[in-house]
Amino acid sequence: MTRARPDNTSSPMPPGSVPPDWHQVSPEQVESLLGTSSAGLSQDEAERRLARVGPNRLARQSARPWWQRLLRQFNNLLIYVLLGAVLLAAAMQHWLDAGVILAVVLFNGVIGFLQEGRAEQALDAIRNLLSARAEVVRDGRRLTLETSELVPGDRVLLTAGDKVPADIRLCQASQLQIQEAALTGESLAVDKDPAPVAADAELGDRRCMAYSGTLVTRGQGWGLVVATGGDTELGRINRLLSTVEQLTTPLLRQMSRLAAVLTLVVLGMAVLVFVLGLWRGQDPQLLFMAVVSLAVAAIPEGLPTILTVALAIGVTRMARRHAIIRRLPAVETLGAVSVICSDKTGTLTRNEMQVTELRLGPRTMTVSGQGYDPAGIIQDGAGEAAPSAALSSLLLGCALCNDSQLTEAGGRWQVQGDPMEAALLALVHKGGGDPRQWRREYPRLAEISFDSARKYMATLHRTPAGEGVLLLKGAPDVLLPLCTLQADGAPLDEADWQAQVASLAGRGLRVLGFALAEAPAGLNCLGPDLPLVRWRLLGLAGLMDPPRAEAADAIARCHRAGIQVKMITGDHGATASAIAGRLGLHNAAEVLTGRDIEGLSDAELGERVAEVNVFARTTPEHKLRLVQALQSRGAVVAMTGDGVNDAPALKRADVGVAMGQGGTEAAKEAGDMVLTDDNFATITRAVHEGRIVYDNLKKAVVFLLPINGGESLSIILALLLSLTLPIEPLQILWVNMVSSIGLAMALGFEAGEPGVMRRPPRDPGAAMLSPFLVWRILLVSALFTAGIFGVFLWARAQGLGEAYGRTMAVNTLVAMEVWYLFSVRYLYGGSLSWRGLRGTGPVLLAVALVLVLQLMFIYSPPMQHWFGSVALSPWHGLLTVLVGLLVFLILELEKWLITRWNITTG
Ligand code: ATP
Repeated sequence: MTRARPDNTSSPMPPGSVPPDWHQVSPEQVESLLGTSSAGLSQDEAERRLARVGPNRLARQSARPWWQRLLRQFNNLLIYVLLGAVLLAAAMQHWLDAGVILAVVLFNGVIGFLQEGRAEQALDAIRNLLSARAEVVRDGRRLTLETSELVPGDRVLLTAGDKVPADIRLCQASQLQIQEAALTGESLAVDKDPAPVAADAELGDRRCMAYSGTLVTRGQGWGLVVATGGDTELGRINRLLSTVEQLTTPLLRQMSRLAAVLTLVVLGMAVLVFVLGLWRGQDPQLLFMAVVSLAVAAIPEGLPTILTVALAIGVTRMARRHAIIRRLPAVETLGAVSVICSDKTGTLTRNEMQVTELRLGPRTMTVSGQGYDPAGIIQDGAGEAAPSAALSSLLLGCALCNDSQLTEAGGRWQVQGDPMEAALLALVHKGGGDPRQWRREYPRLAEISFDSARKYMATLHRTPAGEGVLLLKGAPDVLLPLCTLQADGAPLDEADWQAQVASLAGRGLRVLGFALAEAPAGLNCLGPDLPLVRWRLLGLAGLMDPPRAEAADAIARCHRAGIQVKMITGDHGATASAIAGRLGLHNAAEVLTGRDIEGLSDAELGERVAEVNVFARTTPEHKLRLVQALQSRGAVVAMTGDGVNDAPALKRADVGVAMGQGGTEAAKEAGDMVLTDDNFATITRAVHEGRIVYDNLKKAVVFLLPINGGESLSIILALLLSLTLPIEPLQILWVNMVSSIGLAMALGFEAGEPGVMRRPPRDPGAAMLSPFLVWRILLVSALFTAGIFGVFLWARAQGLGEAYGRTMAVNTLVAMEVWYLFSVRYLYGGSLSWRGLRGTGPVLLAVALVLVLQLMFIYSPPMQHWFGSVALSPWHGLLTVLVGLLVFLILELEKWLITRWNITTG
């Protein structure tokens, strides 16, 4: 449909002029108002317009101003308690203590603010990797552009699954349906039609418009961009496309609550100790300061920040490995995944298709060549196949019932559209045909676009003789029952053709059928269903889509990690089973088809789903039922998807995995994670990372809690036994804020213990801290208390001063922390190895930093003044390090005994 346009590069309406009501004018008027034509804008004009109107993007609103985010750091029970301690110290005119505690609270808030800011930025940067693309016509050529490059006047193609990239006046629509909930709140999709509507039509009634941010759920259409960026309806109502997410997950919230509860428990004990002390006639001043110390000791101030940072590090690491997390809680869930349901085409296979075999009735032909390169021939027996009417019709079907393009750039053949359709175009070239020329000679009048539930595509064309012809291509099991005749007009022997399909599919080939019918006179449009005509089967094409080299390996890794892998495909059962066998899927021979699934009740499906790993000829609705069936058995399911209809299954799955390259925008919106390389192996790597992140969070908690525990216990003990405090409040703050946080941060970078992918998935319902880990925390708390007290009392017994004893006690605590860091890196054993002791870059850096700071703490005069520390003799310094080593050895002994006695650690 070409319309004469005066000037392709004329400007659209002058800036500042009021845009017309696009919905009430005809497509032709829109074209002229926007200064464009059926060939689209010229590239130069598009660039000029881009410079004038700016990129097609909504300005991202910061969720909260920076000062609110800073203040939020202090809105925390733990901080309130510390501020209470400041007031208490000030009330007793301990100005130095009050000042330092306050400074530390502020420091902690600023560090938290900065770290969170960095984590947020990293996550934002990751999300920006997911920029959407749009199909556009410029200079008469079809291009794929970033949606941010669109300008008013651009001709844009919309297909099922797309997110509408700008406000668009539709010029052509074929069964186009759009879901406009983002704008109107209406969740039912609306049928679209290019005819103008009344000027006063409401937004939801403007059927000829497609609005930015809404989703195409069916069909396809062409239209002209009328508004971009902030000028769109979406921009006007100022709703953000991506809502800003809080940097937290259920687990982190659970941990913050745990920290708060622990704090309250310790404070309760403090009050008890205080009352007890008063009753025993101890000095109230001293008792007050002891309570302040206890508050300071008990609070794991750094915990929330460190957990957030560990999470952000995990997410960044996943992004580097092609898995982009869209919803943070998915990171935790990934570590617990017990079943991965994967599509076949493109995820387990390369989606690089090539037609290798043709069946035209009794004749079998093979096809030579490599990839999409049109060089190659169609062979019949040994030589090149002689041209025949049957072969020509089949090739015509391949070229015309096809929406894709194959173009050459720099000697490489590039696919625009569906790779399978591109393979059909390569076949046409090999058979001597020219798809472009045929498309001109047989213009397309209407189509029924491919849909994974229908499993076919149909087009209506006008032949050079002026007659109508219908072409159909799709899954043979859908096509064969429709056809009554063969290409030559003889009756169709369905059983014989089914046998041919089985022989192709049994070798792992993907099979497509082609059919043709004369169109009834006067037919010039197609409804959602096929017209009743006499279809003639033209033949079958067998396409090779080799498995990805790394997929078999990744599946084996999943099996070792106790994760079941299931293939859920729209393809033929025999093809799926053959490929599954090659990939090493368990029980690959047993296939459940979509129809079988429909015949089963939910309970029966729940039973079958446990053993069967290959599901074929499924539709997206089956995927949803499968997820539910698996979940009813307690499985944690990761499910892949790419099409618009996959959205419900992706949302329902515990981890919805969308394809970044081949997936629709609808699937990406519904997914928790997007694979930028569409590769199954990436899911396995993400699960691996998910397990590591969870382990690291656990390690950070198991590392930090006993430090607070040891400090609190020491103070409670001192009070109960009426002994001098072995560590003062400010010194405790020094340890908590400087060494503990620095060291714990290094745990976020841990690369995972060996065997992470050799243990079964964790039970998602189980608490993070197993009884074993609670025991470990108590044990370490006790060891720390013993270390602190032991060294302090020893120093006093040697006649060393109180300040000297305290400095030694602080040093011992820090040395124990450092050694404990090496121990905690391997929760269940293995730290006492060269690899364990050698540490990693971040661990060594943290230790070096702590060493330098600790030397300053002991030897620099200002520090001595603030913290009451004194210079230690080298021998005493060494002694504190040896006490740390002793704690490490005791913990290693515990790990060894546990392995030896085979105690379950959970
Ligand atoms: P997976 O679900 O693993 O990605 P799939 O790509 O085979 O597998 P669908 O895209 O749902 O799943 O395709 C199902 C069937 O529909 C295919 O086996 C093929 O026979 C047919 N088919 C696929 N694409 C087209 C198309 N563009 N035109 C016509 N028929 C098609």
